[in-house]
Amino acid sequence: MDEVLVVKDLHVHFVLENMTVKAVDGVSFHVSEGEALALIGESGSGKSVLGMTILRLLPENVRVGGKILFNGLNLLELPEEGLREIRGREIAWVPQNPATSLNPVLRVGIQIAEPMEVHMGIDRKTAIQRVVGLLRYFDINPAEKRVNQYPHQYSGGMRQRALVAMGTSTQPRLIIADEPTKGVDVTKKVRVAELFRKIKKNSKPSLLIITHDLPFAERLADRVAVMYCGQIVEVCDARTFFEEPLHPYSKALLNSLPSRGLNPIKGYSPSMVNPPEGCRFHPRCDHATDKCLKEPPFDGEVRCWLYA
Ligand code: SF4
Ligand code: MG
Repeated sequence: MDEVLVVKDLHVHFVLENMTVKAVDGVSFHVSEGEALALIGESGSGKSVLGMTILRLLPENVRVGGKILFNGLNLLELPEEGLREIRGREIAWVPQNPATSLNPVLRVGIQIAEPMEVHMGIDRKTAIQRVVGLLRYFDINPAEKRVNQYPHQYSGGMRQRALVAMGTSTQPRLIIADEPTKGVDVTKKVRVAELFRKIKKNSKPSLLIITHDLPFAERLADRVAVMYCGQIVEVCDARTFFEEPLHPYSKALLNSLPSRGLNPIKGYSPSMVNPPEGCRFHPRCDHATDKCLKEPPFDGEVRCWLYA
């Protein structure tokens, strides 16, 4: 399978007046054609920053190192113009907050039509016709009426689906979705997963799903990458992860699920300004040895001395 996205030794550091926040600190992974990779971990582990870095949606005070290859092209070196072409057309970003990501004073239909007009050169009338089809596809009915409504006339779930419709209208090769189930109630989460599955089956994009919602990741992902304190600590296929994860943090994450006993992970998420020495998970790990306290484990499929 071809690798659509390859991230190599990525560093994203926010330089503030008297400190540096190392939000992403040496991350490497890839997403193959047509596969769904779930990037999981607690909030504040650097997942969203990583997603935003791929599309260069970050503020100025950020220092980025490493490579982000999309179809072999390093996005970090691409001029803004070239990037604009890729953003929206070939890589879609589905943002995390449907309440603030839609323009309240514009009809939803026009907002969904815009990427098709801008990136595919489709005229407004044709684009709107396509939007009606998309609304139907995403179960936003009656589509002929909904196309002319404003965001406040939609339910939360509909707004969420409208954002997905907007992101996918140009049939991108890669879709990056940031916490697509955030603020969605339990019954509707299943529906969001079904929606992504449907897109995956029909238009076969690659998916990078950023989420701390493990049951959602389980429904959708082919592979899982686990992020902890700015680093990836385990990458494996989804089945293995949900049945037999190896990294102590992965195990702890799963054991914190209500369906698996609701055992909270002890301790706190570490600081990204002064991360713990050695293995960053050592203050919370039951298996930590002297070596773990001093030497950082190698970056591999499992970043842990138990498996070195
Ligand atoms: Fe635990 Fe040591 Fe593995 Fe870190 S390297 S996860 S502290 S056993
Ligand atoms: Mg986030």
